[in-house]
Amino acid sequence: MQAIAVFPSQKRVDLLDIPEPQLNGRTDVLLKVREVGLCGTDREISSFEYGTPPRGSDHLVLGHESLAEVVEVGREVRSLKPGDLVVAMVRRPCPHPDCRPCRGGRPDFCVTGDYTERGIKGADGFLTYYVGEDETYLVRVPHALAEVAVLVEPLTVVAKASDRTQSIFYGLPFEPGPQRGLVLGAGPIGLLGAMVLVADGFETVVYSRDSEQSKQAELVRSLGAHYVSSTSNPLESLRESSGEFDVVLEAVGFAPLMVGATQVLKPNGVVALTGVPPETATAELKVGRGLRNLVLRNEVVFGTVNAGRRDHLSAIHHLEQFMVLFPQSVRELITHRARLDEVPQMLKQKQGIKNVVEMDRAA
Ligand SMILES: [Zn+2]
Ligand SMILES: [Zn+2]
Repeated sequence: MQAIAVFPSQKRVDLLDIPEPQLNGRTDVLLKVREVGLCGTDREISSFEYGTPPRGSDHLVLGHESLAEVVEVGREVRSLKPGDLVVAMVRRPCPHPDCRPCRGGRPDFCVTGDYTERGIKGADGFLTYYVGEDETYLVRVPHALAEVAVLVEPLTVVAKASDRTQSIFYGLPFEPGPQRGLVLGAGPIGLLGAMVLVADGFETVVYSRDSEQSKQAELVRSLGAHYVSSTSNPLESLRESSGEFDVVLEAVGFAPLMVGATQVLKPNGVVALTGVPPETATAELKVGRGLRNLVLRNEVVFGTVNAGRRDHLSAIHHLEQFMVLFPQSVRELITHRARLDEVPQMLKQKQGIKNVVEMDRAA
């Protein structure tokens, strides 16, 4: 069967033939892949900045944002049956006995760095027709969400950030009043983040470089949130024009915005960073005020990556909620659907917001 893989040593992204997976273990599940979402991580891997093939292999099958259908289950599988729709978790635990997060089922908090990630680091991904996976790493999705369920994986990143933010607010010794949220970036993660904030009752502003007339801006307004373009409003002026925020969710990976995010924070506010800047990124900033504020205003800045099972369940609940509140906006996040053989081109040239590969798509 065909798959899309990256060959890092040959600097090549190509279709290739791989054997169909077999049901091996008793808790194995055989899956027919339905859809795979593409994101910035896939683009980084396919431009050879990132990504590691499985040990002993010269290539890595791409794709980590999956939606698949269960075809067959091993005899000890209890939670899934053929016909179920599932999303696979991305990260797999490291082997070290003393890594408490991994041993506790939360490799997204792994402390050794020796985890693997399907389609990213040391394990093949989902950009193919059939894959095998252990029941432990699969999360069932209601059929009613089928048309948008490929968004679950990117939404887990936001769900984890939101969960941590809420736990910081719950830890405050008083009840916060009505809250305001700012999202930095209007890519899929930023827009999903805006949906979470709106659904959670935040007055929400999205700040990004796209113009006020862009599809992204329109989508933000369709949620009942406000859109501010960074091209006409530098971050320093955002405080005057839009006020301060209880929560800033960063989803751009642009270093100056990441370190500048506290400029627009209210006292006791929280900044969640999800973007990954290049290692060589620099930002020239007057850090005095930001650091003073951090201390004098009890502010919190944290980073977050990947997600656990609980975040997947939370993402599914959020997606169900979105499909009641603003179904059309959710559908419009997926702007392009393509066939498997169109992936190499699609990775070079991002179009619109979310690009999705449909495995059954006819030529
Ligand atoms: Zn992704
Ligand atoms: Zn670990």
